[in-house]
Amino acid sequence: MREETLARIQARSEPWDIVVIGGGATGVGVAVDAAARGYAVVLLEQSDFGKGTSSRSTKLVHGGVRYLEKGDVPLVMEALRERGIMRQNAPHLVSDLAFVVPVYAWWEGPFYGVGLRVYNLLAGKYGFGKSRNLSKEETLEYLPTIKTEGLRGGVVYYDGQFDDARFLISMVQTAVEQGAAMLNYAPVVGITKNEAGFADGIVARDDESGAAIRLRTRVIINATGAFVDNVRRLVQPDVPPMVAPSQGIHLVFDRTFLPGDTAIMVPHTSDGRVMFAIPWNGHTLIGTTDTPIEAPSLDPVPLEREIDFILQTSALYLRKPPARADILSMFAGIRPLVRAGDATNTAALSRDHTVRVDDSGLITITGGKWTTYRNMAEDCVNHAVMLAGLDDKPCVTTRLNIHGYLPHANGLGHLAVYGSDAAALQRLMDRDPALAVPLHPALPYTAVQVVWAVRHEYARTLDDVLSRRLRATFLNVRAALEMAPRVAALMAPELGRDGSWIADECERFRQLARGYLPA
Ligand SMILES: Cc1cc2nc3c(=O)[nH]c(=O)nc-3n(C[C@H](O)[C@H](O)[C@H](O)COP(=O)(O)OP(=O)(O)OC[C@H]3O[C@@H](n4cnc5c(N)ncnc54)[C@H](O)[C@@H]3O)c2cc1C
Repeated sequence: MREETLARIQARSEPWDIVVIGGGATGVGVAVDAAARGYAVVLLEQSDFGKGTSSRSTKLVHGGVRYLEKGDVPLVMEALRERGIMRQNAPHLVSDLAFVVPVYAWWEGPFYGVGLRVYNLLAGKYGFGKSRNLSKEETLEYLPTIKTEGLRGGVVYYDGQFDDARFLISMVQTAVEQGAAMLNYAPVVGITKNEAGFADGIVARDDESGAAIRLRTRVIINATGAFVDNVRRLVQPDVPPMVAPSQGIHLVFDRTFLPGDTAIMVPHTSDGRVMFAIPWNGHTLIGTTDTPIEAPSLDPVPLEREIDFILQTSALYLRKPPARADILSMFAGIRPLVRAGDATNTAALSRDHTVRVDDSGLITITGGKWTTYRNMAEDCVNHAVMLAGLDDKPCVTTRLNIHGYLPHANGLGHLAVYGSDAAALQRLMDRDPALAVPLHPALPYTAVQVVWAVRHEYARTLDDVLSRRLRATFLNVRAALEMAPRVAALMAPELGRDGSWIADECERFRQLARGYLPA
């Protein structure tokens, strides 16, 4: 698949309408939007699709209760609407989840009860379920492992949950179906300008062959998340930075710490943040933190003090507090927080995401959140159309199904995320029962998913398969390490690789896996 994309990109002699740099939720969202409008679009990702923050989120499709507390009603309404659109267009990938805010002080019940009813009201026709106050007994039914000492009750509300990397891969497939060329392992290393100083092309590297890729385009969209300033500096080395990166981590434990189907939401931790404990893919996910960092990296690693903070906060709410030795995996993601007050040539600002146009015409879009990716893309493509003088074409993504669209997919078990593709995976297993064999006793994955990932989901490396097509690295990194040789052996013939590739990939993955467990 990658070879075909590369050939298509190289065969095109006329300029593209839009080049998108960055294959996370923001960039892929832009590619889906622009391709669905009918523009000629190419997207270049330096690593795997979703390798950045977009596979490292809290996995919530949410309006953001936190913003409501700050009185930012329009922002919450926008996100609640987008939450509803995501579920409508990808019912196989977004599910409802009950959250309980445990109440220990007398004022918390009425306070959060009213706030969460407002949250629910703001969703209007996109509502996910009614919030209500709970007695202590009801709270314990929802959360059997919550600390009972001083517990007065709780407030239940509903939001959405998803598997971020799986959603992203389905978006990549959607973009391709709409006509976009999507190339991974192709870092953009240069931006060319015309005589008027307007950015008119990019230079990228095909990381698999080392060859240079040169493209001409009418407009370039920089959607590189925490890396946006690096790309802006390719055109203007002295440009003031627009992003201040901040890291957030999650710890993953087994299901016994949160055995039901309900998440815990703690509205105020000791550092004033929201913290979640969430049932996710048969495990318990707890996070997050907010730690300013110097510079972004592709494989950020949790800091000791972040791990301690999550363990200490969990111990305040869980009867059996999780310990370091219980950590099955941990991961860090980087928020591209937009700096205030450094605006030079701001084309447009919204309070959540930012679209900025530099002097060269390079458009940068960043900020926002996963849940608002579609709206961000619409806004960004509107800017690109105007700036590049492209023919006006309406955005169609509010009603565009995401690849694999299938209502009521949950009966498909661990294949639910494939939606309508699950039938094809099943046929492969029927034809070759070896593909139905589980890959590890601790995780639900089967061999067919590996083959599928290479054939249909652009996976190139062991990390791509184990971390983002399957979520093994994120759920249980020791199990992922044990699966690695088998998974690499399944991938090699699909990719036309030999035994030395298998050995190299296993070693590379061993190095990477170190960052997913505490020292
Ligand atoms: C800890 C944490 C938890 C979060 N939880 C939630 C949540 O529960 N719900 C929610 O809605 N939002 C959440 N968010 C926000 C959400 O995850 C982000 O807003 C979103 O993923 C950002 O996507 P992005 O595409 O802008 O960035 P990224 O996903 O980082 O993508 C940028 C991409 O650009 C690529 N790139 C960089 N440089 C180049 C180059 N030179 N050439 C080519 N490619 C390049 C990178 O490799 C990367 O893949 C969370 C964020 C964090 C940090």
